[in-house]
Amino acid sequence: MTTRLVIMGRQGAGKGTQCVQLASHYGIPHISTGDMLRAAVADGTELGLQAKAIMDAGGLVNDEIMNGIVTERLAQPDAQPGFILDGYPRTAPQADYLDGVLSDTEGLDAAVDLDVPIPVVTERMKARGRSDDTDEGIARRLDLYEQETAPLIAWFIERDLLVTVPGEGLEDEVFDRLVAAIEGREAA
Ligand code: AMP
Repeated sequence: MTTRLVIMGRQGAGKGTQCVQLASHYGIPHISTGDMLRAAVADGTELGLQAKAIMDAGGLVNDEIMNGIVTERLAQPDAQPGFILDGYPRTAPQADYLDGVLSDTEGLDAAVDLDVPIPVVTERMKARGRSDDTDEGIARRLDLYEQETAPLIAWFIERDLLVTVPGEGLEDEVFDRLVAAIEGREAA
């Protein structure tokens, strides 16, 4: 059995925490393209040097680079039983590309949208007090997310892959909801 998942959700929705739990529950890697890019920046690789300015400006690294990184990562042995992709795909061309990469397999099992309303994530981000969590910074990132994500939601709905899971509540409750939603799809 494989479990191939994409997780979506606004910053502050609790995706990171839930992905760690899901990865351990299913025995599959949590593949966060943001984490991979931050590691490249920290290591000072050529990719890191290219990505840093774009990330600092809150922009998107180009699709070709991202598709290359993800293809390599998904070819690793640990990703053969499945994976949770976090932060990718982020554009329609990335979604189409992923479709192609997975064409020799049964494809994705689900794209899970961990849904937490804008006012709630705004309060959570303000409370964590990171230096980029100014009112303006938070609003800008949330705006960008809406713009980036809306077309992807439509893309996943068209392929009958989208499941929306309410992300408010205790961490364990949200986790149980996520597993129930994923397994509900697998049983269908
Ligand atoms: P994240 O941790 O997912 O919010 O990603 C941090 C930053 O990395 C983003 O703001 C983008 O600049 C870049 N990034 C991560 N994933 C992607 C992607 N799939 N496509 C383009 N840029 C990405």
